[in-house]
Formats: sequence, C-alpha cells, structure tokens
Amino acid sequence: MSDILNVDHQEIAKFDKIASQWWDLTGDFKPLHQINPLRRQFITQHMQMVFDKKIIDVGCGGGILAESLAKLGAKVTGIDMGDEPLNVAKLHALESGIHVDYQKITAEEKALACPEMFDAVTCMEMLEHVPDPESIVKACAQMVKPGGFVFFSTLNKTVKSYLLAILAAEKLFKLVPDGTHNHDKFIRPSTLISWAESFDLKCIDATGIHYNPLTENHTLAKGLDVNYILCCQKI
Ligand code: SAH
Repeated sequence: MSDILNVDHQEIAKFDKIASQWWDLTGDFKPLHQINPLRRQFITQHMQMVFDKKIIDVGCGGGILAESLAKLGAKVTGIDMGDEPLNVAKLHALESGIHVDYQKITAEEKALACPEMFDAVTCMEMLEHVPDPESIVKACAQMVKPGGFVFFSTLNKTVKSYLLAILAAEKLFKLVPDGTHNHDKFIRPSTLISWAESFDLKCIDATGIHYNPLTENHTLAKGLDVNYILCCQKI
C-alpha cells in the first residue's frame, strides 16, 4: 500500500515493529551495525573531512549512521517516516550525548523546503523500501549543494542477491526477520546510476559490501552483485 507521499505503510510498520531492537548489536539490526564502519569509511574517504559539514541522512532509522557521522563533528539531520525508529534514535542520541536533528518528513518534502542546503546526503538501505525510489534519488539530488556528495547503498537485483540476502539471511540463518526484503524492489547499479545522472549526480565510485558468513566479516570489495554503495557528486 502506498500513497502520494511515496511511503509504503507496510514497510514503515515493519520497521516500527522491531525498532526497539535498533541498538541491540546482536538483534535484527546486527547487519547494519556490522556494515556501518565500512559505510562511514567510504563516506569519509570521499568527503575527506566531515567535521562541520551539513549532512542529511534520508531514512535514518534508529540513527546508526547519523550518530556515527555526528561523532566525527558533522552537523547531521536525520529524516525518516517511521515514528518508532525516530523515537529510538532521539532517545539513543540523548543517552550518548550526540546531537542529531531528527525529523519526521519525506525526502521529497524536505527537498522542497531545503534545496541545495547540504554538503552531503546519505541514503542507506532505504531505496528498496519505497514505492518510487527514483523520486528519492531526485530529492537527494535537490538537497545537496553543487559539488556536494550523495551516497546511496542498496541491494543489486541478481540471482546471488536472492540467494544470499533473502534465502540465506532471512529463511535459513535468520540474520534478519523473514520478509525484510522483497527481491523485486532490489535495484541494479546501472539503473541507480542512470537515475542519479538524470538528476545531475555524477557517479564517481561504486563499491560492493561483501559478507563472509564464516568469519562474519564485511569488507568493501569490487563486485557489486549483492550489497553495494555509490558515491555521487552533484555537478
Ligand atoms: N538508513 C538506516 C536505516 C535503514 S532501514 C541504516 O542503514 O542504518 C530503512 C529505513 O527506511 C527505516 O527506518 C524505515 O522507516 C525508513 N523508510 C522507509 N520508507 C521511508 C520513506 N518513504 N521515507 C523515509 N523513511 C523511510
């Protein structure tokens, strides 16, 4: 079910239901905690410095990435359409004494209110949960300043991503709740890059995030066939 706001209420309900686990390092969000240092490394490597930079995290959830960037001195805004993830994020920020400005607003509405306001936009593991991901890409492109960076991460639409992200992660090993992902909503890098380029975002890096189930280690690597992360720069 979706509405003109480009929000899938069933998706929001899914995250609302498990939001209390957001900061449990061994719970349903364990994979996000595991990949977060790699996402932060990828972002800082491209931006050089995030200190004092204005960054907006779109679909911030409980704030794993938002807090980690704020810890480095960035001025972070986190937006999401789920009440529970935002409540958890606000509470956690209070506990850790880190300031993040959390808001319940869609990317499209925020882009109308704040065009070209941010040095960087991050949108991680979110595009595969919305009815119209291209509209989110457009909003991200509108929010970033010329020369600024937009980072996207999502899942590729391949047989391997079905086997690993759905069959293995959800059904066999129960690393994340069954039904977290819908393979039809996964996005090929070529599709995401062509959307980005149509909104004046030049893709300057595309890197895979690989998982080794034996060591439980994640690494940044070349192949984009399952999880991947893009760095785009606004022309
Ligand atoms: N980006 C975070 C959380 C990913 S989980 C991270 O990677 O650590 C996906 C998040 O997207 C959830 O918090 C969910 O509530 C949010 N979301 C889903 N649809 C959304 C929409 N249309 N607008 C804003 N947030 C949305």
